[in-house]
Amino acid sequence: MTQNYQDILEDIYHETRPLLGQGRVADYIPALAQVDHSKYGIAIETLEGKSYQVGDANIPFSIQSISKVFLLSMVIRVLGKKLWSRVGREASGTAFNSLVQLETEHGIPRNPLINAGALVVSDCLCTFSPQPLRHLLEFVRELSSNPQIQYDSLIANSERKFGHRNAALVHFMKSFGNIKNDVDEVLNIYFHQCALMMSCVDLARAFLFLANEGIHPHTQEALLTPSQSKRVNAVMQSCGFYDESGEFAFTVGLPGKSGVGGGIVAVVPKRLSICVWSPELNAKGNSLVGMKALELFTTKTGISIF
Ligand code: GLU
Repeated sequence: MTQNYQDILEDIYHETRPLLGQGRVADYIPALAQVDHSKYGIAIETLEGKSYQVGDANIPFSIQSISKVFLLSMVIRVLGKKLWSRVGREASGTAFNSLVQLETEHGIPRNPLINAGALVVSDCLCTFSPQPLRHLLEFVRELSSNPQIQYDSLIANSERKFGHRNAALVHFMKSFGNIKNDVDEVLNIYFHQCALMMSCVDLARAFLFLANEGIHPHTQEALLTPSQSKRVNAVMQSCGFYDESGEFAFTVGLPGKSGVGGGIVAVVPKRLSICVWSPELNAKGNSLVGMKALELFTTKTGISIF
């Protein structure tokens, strides 16, 4: 079906702008609270190589938990199925930084997209990569074809200073033997991945390989096997939106991942990826405007995986 994505994006943008002001910017990491609340952008990148943008689609922002998908992809590529002995793939039904399930589940996090799971995945990267932060940066730069992407060290330091819960999670899992490396090294990787600065355009490009069965659409390099790509999409579908993953499946119907910086990326298999950024969050920690924009996108286009 041919769609006029540019017109659709502009309609969505104007229809949702009145919602700005209704959410709250994340302030539990002080450096994140500095962001301009009124920023709002959307970008689409298609497998045919077309780009569509509206609003602040080229401004880099803190991608926060969206980075968990990059880490997961890097690690699944090397460890394959072995990863699943260290982390589950079931929705947690709890907040992203919750400690409650870890004790009864013996230090095995429910899935790789909650903080505990991403800390285990960071630990795996630390084991096989001699320079994990450089490796991650090269990976996202290659995915988005943007060599300018950087970590924001102010945000990473702010995360470190106020990340007591993440420190608790990693120490707790270490006590169960599910963290193999030094806890400070693992936390350093985790805090930096959250502090990656990317725009909607960068993110939409970077997720396109997940719409393309794991193949980089420009270089044609197989980054993941089709089966691994399917599994990363499946985990996004069931666990990508904290305790609102069911709601996102219900109202939007696409695999995706959000971050507390207000970004959301979603994938339309074999077609495109779309990223929305609006920093104000709803009560569940997802971008309030972003959720609505993506709901309107699948409603207006009739696109969904279901
Ligand atoms: N850096 C954030 C934290 O660990 C990530 C939160 C998120 O985007 O889910 O608290």
